[in-house]
Amino acid sequence: MFEYTLDDLNVTAESVSKILYREAPLAAQEMAEDNVFVSRYEKLFKMYTRFVEPFAYSRSVEMQYFRDVFADSLTYDSPIFRAAECWSRGEIFVVTIGRYIDDSITGLYERGELTDALYLDAVGTSLIENLAAKLQSDIAEKYLNYTKEEDDEKLSSEEFYAARYSPGYCGWDLSGQDELFGYLADVQLPVSITSSGMMHPRKSVSGVIVMERKDPSWNLYAACRLCRNRCGMVRRVV
Ligand code: SF4
Repeated sequence: MFEYTLDDLNVTAESVSKILYREAPLAAQEMAEDNVFVSRYEKLFKMYTRFVEPFAYSRSVEMQYFRDVFADSLTYDSPIFRAAECWSRGEIFVVTIGRYIDDSITGLYERGELTDALYLDAVGTSLIENLAAKLQSDIAEKYLNYTKEEDDEKLSSEEFYAARYSPGYCGWDLSGQDELFGYLADVQLPVSITSSGMMHPRKSVSGVIVMERKDPSWNLYAACRLCRNRCGMVRRVV
């Protein structure tokens, strides 16, 4: 189990403005430099993150076991299932920042403070995205050898990188949450799922972090390399 504090999550006015303007990087940059936005962000961050408790749990999973157990929610024609051919090792994970931000956003909406609610929602998203990214980077450290020295226990970072996939995206049906939470059923997780696979608290992420083999001709995640949908989303770069 990894333990993190708020400081590990490195949330800034810039990371929050990027969430508010995902499709418009120039607007995000302008906002991050705007004094009114920065002071509003700082006020919200100070007021509402005091009780944030980052939680991260992961457990290793055999790749073949993963394919078998998730077969119903991850059909053979989904890009993630095809990407699994490139995986060597991996861990099932759940991260959350807890309920406090969720409840505070609801309170702001109920009081009609819509801009603060919107901004706080982006703060929460930045916190949870950075927490998942931090876990991904620490799991990569665990499995990958970044040095030139021989290490039989680890995979070479010249051949592998860490990739992260979640139910609900890229052809992995949300019903996969049942198997995922079932795999961690013996752990007291501060996250629950509804019958439709949605998580509570909302600012939570679950999925698998895998060591994926590089393809020298591409700088995309294997799922994006092998995807037939070519979605409108920004495809995921290694
Ligand atoms: S191209 Fe889009 S839908 Fe396909 S795997 Fe990548 S992000 Fe997912």
